[in-house]
Amino acid sequence: MDNNMYSTPQTLYIVVPCYNEEEVLPETITRLSSILRQMIEKHAIDKNSAILLVDDGSKDQTWRLIEQYFQPNHFVRGIKLAHNAGHQNALFAGLMHAKERADIVISIDADLQDDVDVIPEMVDKYHEGYDVVYGVRKDRSTDTSFKRFTAQTFYRLMKKLGADIVYNHADYRLVSKRVLEQLSMYEERNLFLRGVIPMIGFPSTYVYYSRSERFAGESKYPLKKMLSFAFDGITSLSVTPIRYITGIGLAMSFISLIVGLYSFIREMMGHTVMGWTSLMTSIWLIGGIQLICLGVIGEYIGKIYKETKRRPKYHLETILEKQSSVDRKRSHSNVWGG
Ligand code: UDP
Ligand code: MG
Repeated sequence: MDNNMYSTPQTLYIVVPCYNEEEVLPETITRLSSILRQMIEKHAIDKNSAILLVDDGSKDQTWRLIEQYFQPNHFVRGIKLAHNAGHQNALFAGLMHAKERADIVISIDADLQDDVDVIPEMVDKYHEGYDVVYGVRKDRSTDTSFKRFTAQTFYRLMKKLGADIVYNHADYRLVSKRVLEQLSMYEERNLFLRGVIPMIGFPSTYVYYSRSERFAGESKYPLKKMLSFAFDGITSLSVTPIRYITGIGLAMSFISLIVGLYSFIREMMGHTVMGWTSLMTSIWLIGGIQLICLGVIGEYIGKIYKETKRRPKYHLETILEKQSSVDRKRSHSNVWGG
């Protein structure tokens, strides 16, 4: 594959998951089309580039709208999911569909909260040799302070629990075809894209933008959904919570020693009723032992859990071989000097 700056324009697909987005969709399509048009004029992307709208089982006129735009606007493509599969699954469906048709794929929300004007910059970064370009919010001043707080807490918690996610990055990103090919090997049901993409690796970089308010319509992520999203993210990326159980168990066993000592002193001083000392000590000790056991069992369940995901063990980035037929080395003009 030749990635010389603009020498061979690449096909870009913009994947947009849409759930009940009839209010914003016309504007979204207009803005994305004009970006694509400009980039095609500059020969930055191939003329077969497209906007792939994924209708996630909307209950309003979203699909009808997509069909309406499909005829006159040659950028518009659509896929429709039979039921509401949720943002991550809709996005994944779109990515997998685009994988067969494009060299570069950008995912973006339908609500125009993410600045579409950085798309050309993302594509430039791709040409510089990056496989993943994360769109990162400069600030969250337009979010409500509540949303800001909950989101911030979420990122912190994820980091603590061992999930490597990009701070202030949602699902606005560019990925290359080969990243998507690796992504398709993740066969797990609970796919948390924000956590898995960094896990795959490959050269990555960031573009920064300020996030605006929703153009129209309302958020499809009320608090309840947000909490379950956070919980899903944590439990699908790490088994660290299980380790905490073992930790608590050890702490409780330790406390049982102190309680034992304390009860013994009380008994010596004659301040206690018959049986209190043994009762106090055993409560803490048994509790501690039980939690340690749960933690150990949890470790095994964690292992089973990881096995059932059948994740790829590695991601091949470059192959250097002598036989030219299998030489799949990817050359970047800037890295390898042309
Ligand atoms: N979305 C989806 N399926 C759902 C919920 C949301 O495809 O079940 C889409 C939605 O149309 C939007 C994106 O996911 O394009 C993000 O949703 P939203 O903007 O409501 O989330 P927020 O920005 O408030 O976190
Ligand atoms: Mg939004």
